[in-house]
Amino acid sequence: MTQRRNRNRSKRRGIFCPTHSCYLDSVSQKYPLYADRAEQLQQRGMSRRKSVALVANGRVIPLSNEWLEAFWCDQCQATCWYQVKRQDARTYSLSPAPSSLWQQVSGVIHPAGNPSVGEFTRTQARANVYGKGSRSYMF
Ligand SMILES: [Zn+2]
Repeated sequence: MTQRRNRNRSKRRGIFCPTHSCYLDSVSQKYPLYADRAEQLQQRGMSRRKSVALVANGRVIPLSNEWLEAFWCDQCQATCWYQVKRQDARTYSLSPAPSSLWQQVSGVIHPAGNPSVGEFTRTQARANVYGKGSRSYMF
């Protein structure tokens, strides 16, 4: 059997705190990002014609190498949400997730109500948590 692996090591993906350059521990799932406007695709290098065609009729396009994810940093002593971009198999770039990004995320549930997250998304998140049949929530 040669399948023995260092679990700790294999779990780490080379994602580092932008402030401290230390390893970050993931504390959430990945929330995939979607583009619903042609400009969002053009910012990522797609041609204008193709991007306009892709989002026609209100379609949303998954951004396969980008997602939102929360990480714990030992040195920050805090959990932060980042927009992660995979550059290649082992390289990731992180930037703090602006609230506008949350509107591009599917299935967002953010129970902590991170202050950097827009009110729009918090409302959505609550709807996901309490919704469907529960009409009594008032915040
Ligand atoms: Zn840090």
